[in-house]
Amino acid sequence: MRRTKKGRAESKTKVTPERSAVMRAVKSTNTKPEQRVRGLLRDLGVRHNRKPSKLPGSPDFAFASLKRVLFVHGCFWHGHHCARGARVPKINRSYWIGKIARNVVRDRKVASELQSRGWKIMIVWECELRDEAKVKRRLRRFLPRPHTLLPDLPYLDAVASTLSEWTNAEDAKAYDKL
Ligand SMILES: [Zn+2]
Repeated sequence: MRRTKKGRAESKTKVTPERSAVMRAVKSTNTKPEQRVRGLLRDLGVRHNRKPSKLPGSPDFAFASLKRVLFVHGCFWHGHHCARGARVPKINRSYWIGKIARNVVRDRKVASELQSRGWKIMIVWECELRDEAKVKRRLRRFLPRPHTLLPDLPYLDAVASTLSEWTNAEDAKAYDKL
């Protein structure tokens, strides 16, 4: 709802040809990072749901069984602290600064909403894709295979400590026999 309201408010601002050219240029470079991340996920063989609209902020990818979501953020649109994110068009500078500041605020709100519902979030920034191998490693860590996830049960700790006690006792017996 808030989005529609905002979108309407924004459309009232006069869109000059220069501005729409900038928007087009930025948008076209923004679609690419998402496709590249999709390729990395394919390489890793991870199943995902694309753009689940029911979740706050419509994350780019969701991994329902792991309760994790992934956003691919364009450095410009989402105000990343990097050289690319710092580049603001000279025309309508204050418009862009305001717009990006609103995006940053919205992203933070979305993140806290998702976290309060128990979702874990990862953001891949456009500039990070310069090193795809690194992003892939991050993705692998963020998206463990379901069978490698151990249930978080206190008794497992108890079993581990009993096992180590037994091992120590056996060691002590063996030592006594020496
Ligand atoms: Zn960046």
